[in-house]
Amino acid sequence: MLDKLCPWEAPKYFIFSENVPTLLFYSHFSAIICALIVGGFIFYNRKKNSSAAYLFSLLSLFSVWSLIDVIIWATNRSDVVLFWWSLIILLEPVLYILALYLAYSFLIGKLPNFWLHITTCVLLTPLILFVPTDLNLSGINLYDCDAVEGPLALYYTYLLEIFSIAGIVALTIKASYKKPVQEKRKNLFFTLGLIAFLIAFTSGNIIGSITGNWDIAQYGLFGMPIFIGFLAYLIVQFKVYNLNIIGSQALIVTLWILIGSILFVAQSTSTQIVAGFTLFAAMVLGYILVDSVKKTVKQKEEIERLAKTLEAANEKLKVLDKMKSEFVSIASHQLRSPLTAIRGYSSMLLEGSFGPLPVKAKEAVERINDASKFMASSVEDYLNVSRIQAGNMKYEYSDFNLKDVAEGLTNDVRQVAIKKGLLVTFKSELAKKGIVHADIGKTRQAIDNLMNNALKYTPKGSISIFVHDETKKIMVDISDTGIGMSQRTAENIFGKFERADNANEVNVTGTGLGLYIARKMIREMGGDITAHSEGEGKGSRFRIELPLMM
Ligand code: ADP
Repeated sequence: MLDKLCPWEAPKYFIFSENVPTLLFYSHFSAIICALIVGGFIFYNRKKNSSAAYLFSLLSLFSVWSLIDVIIWATNRSDVVLFWWSLIILLEPVLYILALYLAYSFLIGKLPNFWLHITTCVLLTPLILFVPTDLNLSGINLYDCDAVEGPLALYYTYLLEIFSIAGIVALTIKASYKKPVQEKRKNLFFTLGLIAFLIAFTSGNIIGSITGNWDIAQYGLFGMPIFIGFLAYLIVQFKVYNLNIIGSQALIVTLWILIGSILFVAQSTSTQIVAGFTLFAAMVLGYILVDSVKKTVKQKEEIERLAKTLEAANEKLKVLDKMKSEFVSIASHQLRSPLTAIRGYSSMLLEGSFGPLPVKAKEAVERINDASKFMASSVEDYLNVSRIQAGNMKYEYSDFNLKDVAEGLTNDVRQVAIKKGLLVTFKSELAKKGIVHADIGKTRQAIDNLMNNALKYTPKGSISIFVHDETKKIMVDISDTGIGMSQRTAENIFGKFERADNANEVNVTGTGLGLYIARKMIREMGGDITAHSEGEGKGSRFRIELPLMM
């Protein structure tokens, strides 16, 4: 067979001959360059990553395949055609199996398991055994130097290829099942790119073997740059192989080489001019792109770093806050018992339990008594705040009549008000009974706080309590003719330790915690507290509302 020559001249340097179409050079060599640069680059940077190694093997094998294909096209010796053709038939399914291995390590994140090795060995054995036989190639057509393919080449290889693609799809499903959307998208892009490449690659060859028109097969090789495109997207978007900046640089350089190579294969001057301009534009755009990727990546990394620091700081703060609450609670508990003693004894002194007191001493003891009362209520406030913050506040729910509670409290306050020369009125307009389902103690505490505030912040005039209802809620309005506040202050005073600027003018004792605690408790029980005032000096109206039962 050695002397059987195809009807064209012997090739120069194995690959240049009149039988090779220019496009074939382009499709094959640009794909080879693309594959080797990107594959080599990823492998060089991620040597320990098994999927990078499989990717590099796949792309290298693809390059070998492409090179052999060019040699087959170029040679005019029928024995050389037969030798390389039989080999290329073996390489194609191996390429598919490597794609399956790549998918396994990329998607599952582990080395392929024992059973996959066994299965692929068993499937590849007949191919290796029968490559040199008629089952693979049965002859050559000397008219155009095309080999005549046997059943092994025509059917068995495709069977292996279908097996690999099915495997890749199954692995994608397995790797994406019940995973976050981001992970699913990453897997999907990878599989789409890989399968697009494999199918583009093979469909050219299938059409070639069925129709005998091998010209079409050269287009299939463009599947490789497409796959590289998908890889590029994965690298930039999903930080695959952690190659963000360098990865995009390598891809841009590949693109330049691809476009630049048109300059050499293009035969007409006009094509060369267009290619030249395209290359120039690609260089400028590529530079800008890499630059912006660099900036985005830097920003992204900076934000991620900041987010981590913030998270750590937040954790620290939470711990500190908890420690603070615990400290307050311990300290407050220890303040309670001496305070009880001070209050108890000063009351007894005032009541004359230890005999009559001189007038001057009585004044002093009265001060001690007032101060200790204020201190006791402050301690109670601190304790409540720490309970609220620790989520330890306990609520005991029962049904009770809110109107009765409000009326009772009004009567208590009235005594003190009369001493201050203030008028206190109570009014109710209820369509229903006024029963609510809440913690009675905490509801009393909240209303009491609002009433005492009205007393504290009203130097003269009156305080009026008004209980009324709507379809599903009941409201207790506590209005006074006191110092009032701006609308902005009316919202702020519900914050922790918040006191209005004009508060100290009238009443210096106050912690700024009462309203904070009252609103927290009422909101926890499904209601709300709001404040309203026409402005400083124009009085205020505080409203407590709770869901109405009946
Ligand atoms: P405290 O009275 O101990 O300062 P509160 O939380 O009960 O704390 O009240 C917060 C602030 O809201 C007060 O310091 C005061 O400035 C303002 N405030 C509360 N009630 C009234 C009111 N009836 N009229 C005017 N200002 C009020």
